[in-house]
Amino acid sequence: MIGYRHVALVGLGLIASSLSHAIRRSGAPVRITGHSRSAATRDEARRLGLGEILPTAAEAVDGADLVILCVPVGAMAVVADEIAPRLAPGATLSDVGSVKRAVIEAVAPRLAPGTLFVPAHPLAGTEHSGPGAGFAQLFDNRWCLLTPLPDSPPAAVEKLAAFWRALGARVDTMDPDHHDLVLAVTSHVPHLIAYTMVGVADHLSRVTAQEVIDYSAAGFRDFTRIAASDPTMWRDVFLSNREATLDILGRFTEELFVLQRAIRMGEGEALHAYFTRTRAIRRGIIEAGQDTAAPDFGRAALAQNTD
Ligand code: NAP
Repeated sequence: MIGYRHVALVGLGLIASSLSHAIRRSGAPVRITGHSRSAATRDEARRLGLGEILPTAAEAVDGADLVILCVPVGAMAVVADEIAPRLAPGATLSDVGSVKRAVIEAVAPRLAPGTLFVPAHPLAGTEHSGPGAGFAQLFDNRWCLLTPLPDSPPAAVEKLAAFWRALGARVDTMDPDHHDLVLAVTSHVPHLIAYTMVGVADHLSRVTAQEVIDYSAAGFRDFTRIAASDPTMWRDVFLSNREATLDILGRFTEELFVLQRAIRMGEGEALHAYFTRTRAIRRGIIEAGQDTAAPDFGRAALAQNTD
């Protein structure tokens, strides 16, 4: 059950657009209002029929009983300042930011006492951005993690959980710091590695002309898809989840040295055992319904989870 009568989306990119489509798909009679800072994005959102698009964030949230901040993590504070005085009494405020502790620190101090703030993060996305990239199925069978504050009323948390379930998502709650650590492992550091590998190949391709691009095999192609993700969003993710990212990156570097040594020493058994363990993790992800075993990693069949 959607459970809200008026949802305001602040920021109108991939995630907000997908929210609008998914709300519409649910068939619930919900009023959707929205705002984006640029006139070009607002015009595109209007053309796509994403809702009533208003010139300011304050106007968009007026009277809404659910407000969702859908801007990059680094922009949450500015947007919170703009909307906080206009939140309707009893409205729930949420967000979709990929990092939770930094969003809570940026937003919570700007809210009037008693505001129902329930941070959230849908683990669903693609490497595309902007309102035109959104689609109704994005959240289907994906996890949405809620990271309530100690004073978030359980009824408000459960209502938001029901909303995400009505959009097709599976919902779990988590401590914000734990969220940031888990996402550093499952998303943030893998993105950094992809960015790095594509950077290495880019340098190399200057030497070998077109070969890296022309003969790119599955491993590299998958890295390039991830490395095509939005630069603003990912800059903000790394700057705002610095501690957990650096922790996991340190562990990654140690593992890399272990593998490097095994290759140098010709330790085939160690490499084989390592790759057998990692293969089991891939099997676990498929069994959990979070990807398909199709040879192209299900790109055509499934929205890719880049976040
Ligand atoms: P997007 O498609 O790039 O859209 C970003 C939106 O934020 C646009 O409306 C943009 O406005 C606005 N914006 C950008 N910088 C801003 C600023 N400094 N001040 C105010 N507004 C600003 O982004 P998205 O992929 O929907 O991501 C939105 C949020 O969802 C981010 O916090 C991200 O971490 C999170 N998230 C993303 C994914 C993913 O895979 N993409 C998945 C889960 C969660 P204009 O276009 O008008 O400039």
